[in-house]
Amino acid sequence: MQSFKNAFLARSLSENYHKLTSNEHQIRDECGAFGIMGHPDAATLTALGLQALQHRGQEAAGIVTVDGDRFYAERRMGLVRDNFTKNSVINRLCGNIAVGHVRYSTTGETAMRNVQPLFADMNFGGLSLAHNGNLTNALAIRRELEKTGAIFQSTTDTETILHLIAQSTKATVVDKFVEALFKVNGAYALIGSSKDQLIGVRDPLGIRPLVLGRLGESYVLASETCALDIIGANFIREIENGELVSITSNGIQSLKPFPPIKERPCIFEYIYFARPDSLVGGKSVYECRKNFGRELAKESHVEADMVIPVPDSGVPAAIGYAEASKTPYELGIIRNHYVGRTFIQPQQSIRSFGVKLKHNANASLIHGKKIILLDDSIVRGTTSVKIVRMMREAGAKEVHFRVASPPITHPDFYGIDTPNKDQLLASSNTCEEMRDHLEADSLSFLSISGLYRALGHPAGRDDTIPQFTDHCFTGDYPTTLEDRDGKQAEFQLSFLSSPTHPEG
Ligand code: AMP
Repeated sequence: MQSFKNAFLARSLSENYHKLTSNEHQIRDECGAFGIMGHPDAATLTALGLQALQHRGQEAAGIVTVDGDRFYAERRMGLVRDNFTKNSVINRLCGNIAVGHVRYSTTGETAMRNVQPLFADMNFGGLSLAHNGNLTNALAIRRELEKTGAIFQSTTDTETILHLIAQSTKATVVDKFVEALFKVNGAYALIGSSKDQLIGVRDPLGIRPLVLGRLGESYVLASETCALDIIGANFIREIENGELVSITSNGIQSLKPFPPIKERPCIFEYIYFARPDSLVGGKSVYECRKNFGRELAKESHVEADMVIPVPDSGVPAAIGYAEASKTPYELGIIRNHYVGRTFIQPQQSIRSFGVKLKHNANASLIHGKKIILLDDSIVRGTTSVKIVRMMREAGAKEVHFRVASPPITHPDFYGIDTPNKDQLLASSNTCEEMRDHLEADSLSFLSISGLYRALGHPAGRDDTIPQFTDHCFTGDYPTTLEDRDGKQAEFQLSFLSSPTHPEG
């Protein structure tokens, strides 16, 4: 056990340091998409919408607009605020239809050619496309398309959809979309635009979110409602699972082209991804997270002097836990919000400071106290190891770790990019082994029934037709996983090394 512990700890700490200094080994976030139809300030509003969705992807951002005839594209590596607040960039994006995207690569390399929205000239004109999610048969399809001469410009799964649309012989853009989407599997919330229409579509299970809003006469599509709030748009409704909406100057049309199946939205949106001020599936994400904390307190409370959230992701659950257990809530860890994603690698001698860049203990509060630490999830365990150690160094008498979700035992293939099974702490360790690894006095996770109860399903998970996509905790993948299981697992993409952006 000891050698496992030391090896794992050494890896955790070095990964954790790396996490603060490079993007390379970070758990990869998913993406966010935004679109607006019929507004003279389409590009500016899209930049604002993307700013609100920045938590869904910080690697790159892009906006493609169309003025009824010509398309204009700006794609940049880095944060929205660093690139899309400049008049020089926004002013080049003419037109009253815009599609935007923030990206963290879950498929494809980190390179300019993969930054979305993608754009292609087709026989009917131009088409821009922004995708949140991951296809599970994109490599298999790509292989087939390449055999017939298709030339791919990126390594994203999204480009597969563009090729399928281009090959469709159907008469209308919407019918081409539908034909293409019948061939793909997996998770997709797409926003695309031709020269005169905006299209939004969600996969048949509705794994990734997509909402519809209205700003004056304009329609807006976005991954989350917080992107509607920022531009003062009214939330109308969610795009339903398997629904396609087409928005033109004549209004909005809805289509349900797929055989109807019960929706299974991703449960992780509630746990970690979505912003707490968003509504997902008609529920306040903030309230859901507080409920996770309340349920956790019911399931595994331990007497302590205070409940401390791991900021920011553990805050709502810690508030709920503290309220339900009548334990004082305190800010025992202070987060530095100004830590950039890349940090100049310091000399070896000051390397250990790295772990304190993002979080620091509020030592005078913690000293001599029994504390409950609360975070939303444990993936590799790097954050929790670091935080428990920090609490001990700050003089905590007892450290009890509580996690507001069940143990993550299975990787994701739908756009979350939780890592390989062998990197998931809970995939091969018991709770007691994990507690030992974290060096905590106790460790408890929210049960899967508690999670479902907190989400408004008092009877817990319906095992015959689960209400959510929850494979991370159960191994129950809601679609086939052709690319993982098939021969294309050996299929290698060639990676082009290209500069991030010539203008910076
Ligand atoms: P780890 O340190 O690897 O155990 O990751 C857990 C921490 O990362 C928690 O504090 C979560 O808030 C956060 N987290 C959970 N899932 C993800 C994800 N898919 N991408 C980035 N961070 C995540």
